[in-house]
Amino acid sequence: MIDQQYTSSDEAMLRAVILDLLHYPRKVFQSDQDLDQCLHGGFYNDDGQDCELCEQLSKCRWLLGNDDFVDLNRRTTEQLLDALLFARDQISATILMDNHRNNCKCQACSWLIIADVCLRNKQAEH
Ligand SMILES: [Zn+2]
Repeated sequence: MIDQQYTSSDEAMLRAVILDLLHYPRKVFQSDQDLDQCLHGGFYNDDGQDCELCEQLSKCRWLLGNDDFVDLNRRTTEQLLDALLFARDQISATILMDNHRNNCKCQACSWLIIADVCLRNKQAEH
């Protein structure tokens, strides 16, 4: 019989890997922000109309919920996986746009491989 549930140590390991993986997109999204243009210093402002029109909106929102000041240890594993899924889609889109080679060894491509392994766990659960 195959047990689909994580044992608690598997889950702790998965959480540690996700928390580690979130560092890279955090750096990338922060460097994507145009702080010369942003009226809020890169902090998403939910009563600002200008934020709703900004092309960095979704990444800014993600950063607000997942930056270094948020205690991610209090999130459920599902919430952490959702944060990783968003980051994965963004990084993957950038890699596609920049036409990286198949076996590219850059940080983005290496990151994506590990993120996909984590997210495969998520998809297997459902
Ligand atoms: Zn690459």
